[in-house]
Amino acid sequence: MTFDQLSALYHQPLFDLISQSRAVHLEHWRGAEVQRCSLLSIKTGGCSEDCAYCAQSAHYSTGVEREELLSLENILAAAKRARSQGATRFCMGAAWRGVRDGSEKFERVLGIVREVSRLGMEVCVTLGEIGPVEARKLKAAGVTAYNHNIDTSPEFYPEIVSTHTFQDRLDTIAAVQKSGMSVCCGGIIGMGESEADRLRMLEVLSNFDPSPESVPINCLMAMPGTPLADQPPVDIFELVRLIAATRIALPKARVRLAAGRTRISREGQALCFFAGANSIFYGNKLLTAKNPAADVDVALLRELGLHVESETISPRPVATAL
Ligand code: SAM
Ligand code: SF4
Repeated sequence: MTFDQLSALYHQPLFDLISQSRAVHLEHWRGAEVQRCSLLSIKTGGCSEDCAYCAQSAHYSTGVEREELLSLENILAAAKRARSQGATRFCMGAAWRGVRDGSEKFERVLGIVREVSRLGMEVCVTLGEIGPVEARKLKAAGVTAYNHNIDTSPEFYPEIVSTHTFQDRLDTIAAVQKSGMSVCCGGIIGMGESEADRLRMLEVLSNFDPSPESVPINCLMAMPGTPLADQPPVDIFELVRLIAATRIALPKARVRLAAGRTRISREGQALCFFAGANSIFYGNKLLTAKNPAADVDVALLRELGLHVESETISPRPVATAL
């Protein structure tokens, strides 16, 4: 979609927008299903990059201790726990700029992916920058989706990160697409970006070919010690509008209501699900930030008549006569 099309969509009266996005959602998805993803930080802190939102950057004193790559045993234990709690996707994140073929850490990651993929869940990894060789090997090892968020518009990105570029992000995404892995790509709102930046981010996402399989929409978790620590929370209606516009622009993508849910009311989350969000991170910790406790999410989904997606397959056309 073009920026102008997205802007016209976004600026409709709110109820018209979410009615439209709900209709699109029900055309492509079972309306009551929500994917439950479990996220594990497999290497934490001490990152060389200076992403202004990130508590794991070595550029800021955020209190996040550097931890080396977890052992395979620890990761497998966490993955089995996630599966027993009904997660259908297991996401592993690493705080580093990227990985290179031939490095010891990349070999270890490949071994971890091979073992985790035997557990029957979708495997998603977010390891920073990779090229075609790394992408091919990750795919062969069993990765379903590679997460690499563009995080904001091309214009605003240099305000947030100086140690790599927006083009670097696009290059990694192109390598992932070429490998045949699905792309998980989204961004963050609440960093001081403009509404136009949010629509430009969505314009870039909606023009990926192939389209991203999932789109995480993060609300900034203002982490102490980072340059964005004093940012105010996102306005809930702006979040709902972006979720709705994302659903319409990318009807077949899972739209993940990602970071920041601890600062969104139950009513606000309900509006997001109505507008087309159908995936959440599950469990009380994201990579370093807080997330609602599992039982709180179970209660909310039950209250809303939603349930966790039981299968891991991608969208399936639902019978029209629902
Ligand atoms: N280092 C890899 C990278 O940069 O792609 C993977 C890890 S990175 C932490 C994964 C994503 O988490 C970021 O791209 C960003 O969208 C999100 N994220 C990180 N810190 C956040 C925060 N404080 N608030 C909201 N989202 C955040
Ligand atoms: Fe490093 Fe990723 Fe955090 Fe940026 S977002 S500082 S690359 S861990």
